[in-house]
Amino acid sequence: MYPDVQLLIDGQWRAASGGKTIPVLNPATEEVIGTVAHAGRGDLDEALAAAEKGFATWRKVSAFDRSKLMRKAADILRGRADAIARLLTLEQGKPLPEAKMEVLAGADVIDWFAEEARRAYGRVIPARAEGVYQLVVKEPVGPVAAFTPWNFPINQVVRKLSAALAAGCSIIVKAPEETPASPAELLRAFVEAGVPAGVVNLVYGVPAEISEYLIPHPVIRKVTFTGSTPVGKKLAALAGEHMKRVTMELGGHAPAIVFDDADVEAASRILAGSKFRNAGQVCVSPTRFLVQEKVFDRFVDGFVAAAKQVKVGNGLEEGVTMGPLANDRRIPAMEALLGDARQKGAEVRTGGERIGNKGYFFAPTVVTNVTRQMRVMNEEPFGPMALMVPFRDFDEVVEEANRLPFGLASYAFTRSAKTAQAIASQVEAGMMTINHLGLALPEVPFGGIKDSGYGSEGGSEAIEAYLNPKFVSQAGL
Ligand code: NAD
Repeated sequence: MYPDVQLLIDGQWRAASGGKTIPVLNPATEEVIGTVAHAGRGDLDEALAAAEKGFATWRKVSAFDRSKLMRKAADILRGRADAIARLLTLEQGKPLPEAKMEVLAGADVIDWFAEEARRAYGRVIPARAEGVYQLVVKEPVGPVAAFTPWNFPINQVVRKLSAALAAGCSIIVKAPEETPASPAELLRAFVEAGVPAGVVNLVYGVPAEISEYLIPHPVIRKVTFTGSTPVGKKLAALAGEHMKRVTMELGGHAPAIVFDDADVEAASRILAGSKFRNAGQVCVSPTRFLVQEKVFDRFVDGFVAAAKQVKVGNGLEEGVTMGPLANDRRIPAMEALLGDARQKGAEVRTGGERIGNKGYFFAPTVVTNVTRQMRVMNEEPFGPMALMVPFRDFDEVVEEANRLPFGLASYAFTRSAKTAQAIASQVEAGMMTINHLGLALPEVPFGGIKDSGYGSEGGSEAIEAYLNPKFVSQAGL
């Protein structure tokens, strides 16, 4: 049912040259379900040589033809959505319908970037002298090293991969060792669509060893990473030392602001749905629920009721709406944050505990009486934990929303157009969605500011990160 996942280097699927593998676990059962090849230095050298060759080939393929191949890959992915979703649930834990949605959304991302490939326009700048043409031409930056995490094994790869290929770059993807099979199937779709050998390469191993080797390597011209802020800062510093272009998609601690003129029932229902999706292991997950005093109790009651409705279980089972946490590190992480909060006076309104002792299940958790002194109010919980904080007025909520160094997603609910406009302009975040959930579509920008990183992985901005503008000034003789 679950494959032994191999490396993809220069168009060939193969074991690591040293034969080393890493076991893969199902987080719902803690059973070993397969293995993934563990690349050594020799494999990385081959991947680099392949990416260099792949770039030389791919940059010469016209945008029109790149686009066609990408669309074909999207269709292959769609056709296999059921089978790939199953692998994704087995390795990552999320409910099967969510896994399928991730695969299908991945195909939409490919289609979007396939279209962008054909629209990577330069421009003509009016010249001062007669007979001079001043042109800006967009060129691909070169081979890309991409590092992606385990929470959305397909989605995190597909944004980087599609933008790179659309621009004419080749890529080495270091996909997550804990959830390796579904990203491998994504790359397989590109290989089978006919992308030339060496254009897309896939490795797994020890993340730090791979990033420390690939990022400084002269073949690599662009680095893109999704993961935690501390790791992101390390990789950005290394890239800076070697003058590599960088996109960083890092952590968040999203404020969800509910004003007292909002549709409070809709807000609690919509936000609870978002909070517990993928067991809260989402960089844009709403985390600090900042609710105006007058409606605080109503909002919390609605949210707690919604949390109790969440059906936790094995993602393969019908009706399950929240799977286990993705790995064994998340349970102690949740317990440590909650232990600290409880000790400092927090009240757990529902959840707060691991469920059972087999599989990494943790109950949907709602906490009140939280203070800024608690770790959980400062560190990204990355789990099914909602923190409820009452506020008095607009200025107070803006101050709390902007207190942390993060600035990724933010949410607001209000019926006042004036308040909506004011809050959107004052919250320091890369994204804000008001009165609904509207983030992460392929055609809209996706990214953060402050410690949440830089660069965008959606919208027309996303392809620019893989293009260099070249200025050409030409006069007639
Ligand atoms: P972690 O910080 O060690 O790893 C996060 C990701 O970075 C993983 O995919 C890992 O393989 C990768 N990584 C770690 N060190 C690396 C290195 N030196 N070079 C290249 N890649 C490296 O911890 P973790 O336990 O896997 O995740 C914990 C935290 O990471 C979470 O609390 C969350 O804050 C963050 N995270 C964020 C996202 C996101 O979507 N932004 C996804 C997963 C994890």
